[in-house]
Amino acid sequence: MAREKKVEQYDVVIIGGGASGLTAGIYCGRARLKTLIIEQALVGGIATNTNDIENYPGFPEGITGIGLMNLFHQQAKKFDVKFKLTNVKTIDLSGDIKIVETFRNRFEAKTVIICNGSVPRLTGAINEEKFLGKGIAFCATCDAAANTDKEVLVIGSGDAAIEEGIFLTKFASKVMVSIIHDEGKFDCNEIAKAAALANPKMEFYHNTVVESYEGDNELDKVILKNLKTGEKKAIECATCFLFIGYLPNTSLYKDIIDMTDRGYIITDENMKTNIPGVFAAGDVRDKLLRQVATCVGDASIAGVMAEKHIAESEIFEEQIMAKDGIAYVYNAIESDQRYFLSFIEEIEEVYKDYCYHRVDTYKSEGIADRLGVESCPSVVFIKDGKVEKIICGDKCNKDEVRDIIKNNEETKK
Ligand SMILES: Cc1cc2nc3c(=O)[nH]c(=O)nc-3n(C[C@H](O)[C@H](O)[C@H](O)COP(=O)(O)OP(=O)(O)OC[C@H]3O[C@@H](n4cnc5c(N)ncnc54)[C@H](O)[C@@H]3O)c2cc1C
Repeated sequence: MAREKKVEQYDVVIIGGGASGLTAGIYCGRARLKTLIIEQALVGGIATNTNDIENYPGFPEGITGIGLMNLFHQQAKKFDVKFKLTNVKTIDLSGDIKIVETFRNRFEAKTVIICNGSVPRLTGAINEEKFLGKGIAFCATCDAAANTDKEVLVIGSGDAAIEEGIFLTKFASKVMVSIIHDEGKFDCNEIAKAAALANPKMEFYHNTVVESYEGDNELDKVILKNLKTGEKKAIECATCFLFIGYLPNTSLYKDIIDMTDRGYIITDENMKTNIPGVFAAGDVRDKLLRQVATCVGDASIAGVMAEKHIAESEIFEEQIMAKDGIAYVYNAIESDQRYFLSFIEEIEEVYKDYCYHRVDTYKSEGIADRLGVESCPSVVFIKDGKVEKIICGDKCNKDEVRDIIKNNEETKK
């Protein structure tokens, strides 16, 4: 018989414990939300794969990826964020309460922040699956020491490939680099390119791609194919490091969350996805620059928006929908939309049993959305816990509003 899953309730569940997940955790925890981060592998995520982060502000001497992520982790724990080291298997994000399930647990949350990041892209060459973890690697920091005085091959010419390749020269006797482009052409920044070209331990094979990986149990050579000449060359190496880009880790959200053709999650500038109460941050998002600094920017917004979503849900349920009344939905920075406020004060004195709410969309857009208001100003009539009627735009006629309230009050008696 299948074992019953243990159920736990949280304000926020964050899926993924990399730079984005940890930052979202810091913001939610500090806002005193009951927060859980679920991480399937290593807390710190992909940033722990890099030895030297030189462009994250606040560390003029640079810092290791592990060092920086340890600080993020420490800070999240300080705000009482809880961690579960397991992977999320299924989700149901459709209701007001979101369900996130792991092998043993069912977590119920008011909001979910998606921070799944990305996974390294593979070459698709022959025997690749066979040698994953047996000579094919993705993390120079993790595997450099094991390659001391050995010859290694790097695939790719972007920032990660060339910068990590340079780092590997501190350990390996030779770092060969397979580059798909013509002689002298790299995808990385100019500083990295110049440093690599000047490094006597580095050797470049332009116009090449991996044809196959060879070896018995462990990888011992990689066959490179020259795209121009068709010539094949066997490169003997202890490890082949793949740095040819990343793919978003979004299969869990297929057909649920809106994504680009390449599988990146689409959000607005407030990190909202197409599902209310579900936010996304970091490398998993469709955006221009995937770096720790941009993850921190995204995730701090997502954390604040999660807090706002919860606060607005509470106001909506416990105040606005709890009693018959009206909500005047307006934009306070538009002076011509403030005219109705004095009228509300007037009728508040006459029909005292009625509830009156002023909803400024500038501050509380989520409440306006929940009320189903599409344009401002609007007057929303709430009766028996439901929206009874919405009068919008220039049609917010004071006499009509007064008549509806009067009529509702009289039928109550
Ligand atoms: C080699 C390399 C060098 C880099 N150098 C720099 C640099 O110098 N400066 C810089 O700013 N940036 C650098 N970056 C980029 C930076 O590391 C990333 O932009 C950032 O770390 C991404 O963070 P993230 O939290 O969005 O995603 P990730 O770090 O990928 O975190 C996502 C986490 O989600 C977890 N996860 C996924 N699916 C599930 C699931 N179903 N259940 C539970 N957990 C799940 C994963 O295990 C992972 O830990 C580098 C990246 C690489 C690879």
